[in-house]
Amino acid sequence: RAKADGRDRIRFYDGMMQRKVAERLAMESDLRSAIRKNQLDVYYQILVDQKGVPEGAEALLRWTRPGKGPVSPAEFIPLAEETGLIEPIGYWVMEEVMAQVARWQALGDPFARLQVSINVSARQFHLPSFCTRVMGLLRKTGASPRRLKIEITESALAYDLELVEQTLRTLRSMGLRISLDDFGTGYSSLGYLKRLSLDELKIDQGFVRDILDDPNDAAIAETILALASALKLSAVAEGVESRGQLERLVAMGCPHFQGYFFGRPVPASEFELQVTKAASARQKKSW
Ligand code: C2E
Ligand code: MG
Ligand code: MG
Ligand code: MG
Repeated sequence: RAKADGRDRIRFYDGMMQRKVAERLAMESDLRSAIRKNQLDVYYQILVDQKGVPEGAEALLRWTRPGKGPVSPAEFIPLAEETGLIEPIGYWVMEEVMAQVARWQALGDPFARLQVSINVSARQFHLPSFCTRVMGLLRKTGASPRRLKIEITESALAYDLELVEQTLRTLRSMGLRISLDDFGTGYSSLGYLKRLSLDELKIDQGFVRDILDDPNDAAIAETILALASALKLSAVAEGVESRGQLERLVAMGCPHFQGYFFGRPVPASEFELQVTKAASARQKKSW
């Protein structure tokens, strides 16, 4: 009886594993055809300063899987990284965003001065051809590098530091800015911060979520802001969802904000409406 139970359990487990593997393969193949059939979209989430003035956006990838609905990037980006699909996807996002930035440049203010951040996976960032490809896309699209920011996570730094340093220096000499995403959640040592040419730290939303109730989160957010300011780096708080969180962060001296309180990620056309509205609301001092 015990033995039979064990066998049943193994069979059940095997069945689950098989379904998982099959589901992964199906998703990979759908993702592959999504690239081919141009079924990916870039959404834009607004970033504002302490007065609510729109300063830019973070470009966030969206995928609606045919017959299945939207899939979270938190799910398909890791799969794209493991399968190498992140390279074509990453350059597609980059070209799409640069083309959009070039259109905004042509529209004049407030659009022409927006800064748009692009998330770049470690795997793409470390390709020897990365900077050359970025340069090529800048030429092709006519986007100004000054309007672009590259977001990398700490995992991109856990690599040959000399090479990381070189890549960052090249990107910055081309005029792009560099932002360290999800700061405080990875394993990077603080020593990296003084060695690498960075422009900005993004305080992970995990520290913002309970900033009003959890003194540890508040202390960490405050420490990141102090660190950024001491190192002459800019700082952005991610995941701001309420006025209370915003006010707390403003009191701590945080200069830039992003989160559902200001706007969710939306298609470019909707983002343009948000920018126009925020720019005029600000003249009426709405917050
Ligand atoms: P991330 O770069 O840290 O992006 C911020 C995430 O937080 C986004 O999730 C955004 O929608 C979400 N968010 C923004 N404000 C709030 C808020 O107030 N509350 C909450 N709960 N969430 C908020 P999203 O779009 O699902 O993306 C998840 C992650 O997927 C991103 O985290 C990034 O690591 C990755 N990702 C997204 N697009 C790309 C891309 O084009 N390339 C690469 N390599 N990675 C991407
Ligand atoms: Mg990001
Ligand atoms: Mg982040
Ligand atoms: Mg994240």
